[in-house]
Amino acid sequence: MALNRLFRRRRTSGGGRDVPDLWLKCPACEAQIYKKDLEANLMVCPECGYHFRMSAENRVRLLADENSFAQTSGAVRPVDALHFSDTAPYQERLERYQQKTGKSDAIYGGSCTIGGVPAMLFVMDYDFAGGSMGSVVGEELTRGAEQAASEGRAFVTVSSSGGARMQEAALSLMQMAKTTMALDRLWEKRLPYVSIMADPTTGGVTASFAALGDVVLAEPGALIGFAGPRVIKQTIRQDLPEGFQRSEFLLQKGMLDQVVKRQDLKETLARILRLLHPEGGRDGA
Ligand SMILES: [Zn+2]
Repeated sequence: MALNRLFRRRRTSGGGRDVPDLWLKCPACEAQIYKKDLEANLMVCPECGYHFRMSAENRVRLLADENSFAQTSGAVRPVDALHFSDTAPYQERLERYQQKTGKSDAIYGGSCTIGGVPAMLFVMDYDFAGGSMGSVVGEELTRGAEQAASEGRAFVTVSSSGGARMQEAALSLMQMAKTTMALDRLWEKRLPYVSIMADPTTGGVTASFAALGDVVLAEPGALIGFAGPRVIKQTIRQDLPEGFQRSEFLLQKGMLDQVVKRQDLKETLARILRLLHPEGGRDGA
């Protein structure tokens, strides 16, 4: 009886609401990690190096030079042009995501310098509708690329996306062509575009701007592909190779230029931009 009471008491104190928020379990090595330690380590598991997802704001903090970032995204707001409703009206979903993230849509971007090189940096926000690309994401990216071209800046994107925004149907698919065309402005001016693929980069995002970087980088272990592994497996009725659709596998197959650990990402990106940007060599770096 006494033992029973002890367990019962431990369960109530251990299962309190505040406790799970302080600790996270690593999905790769199952280590219990103190959340503050994880944040201090750029959301990378200190035990095994597993890369957790990172907020768009922290991405910008990681990659842009200190105090150089000026947000340009946020003015374009999504509309429910098709009056779409599934289990909930699209308009309601949008409002919920806007409240949750404080953003008008699934992208956060602006001008900055990276290693001293002038750039436009755009990061997808997975917390907003799975980072899906609808009209607003396409428009913001297009404006970003156009501003980069007109101001002589490099263009950098960080993708973390489930693909096209299904509630916007064809309007969403059109963003693939639109973002692809916008990148032409950069090529015309010989300005570099570096695409960074974070976990996950899938669907229409992989099939458009994310795969079109002059240099394409990815974080370790990121899921990158068009259709998901389960769909492919069911379609071709074959077992998929080990590590299929993970960044290390895709590097071997030539789809990526480099897999870069998060702690090395800023330095690697800065080095690439200094090499490729017309003004990059000026400071002798
Ligand atoms: Zn781990």
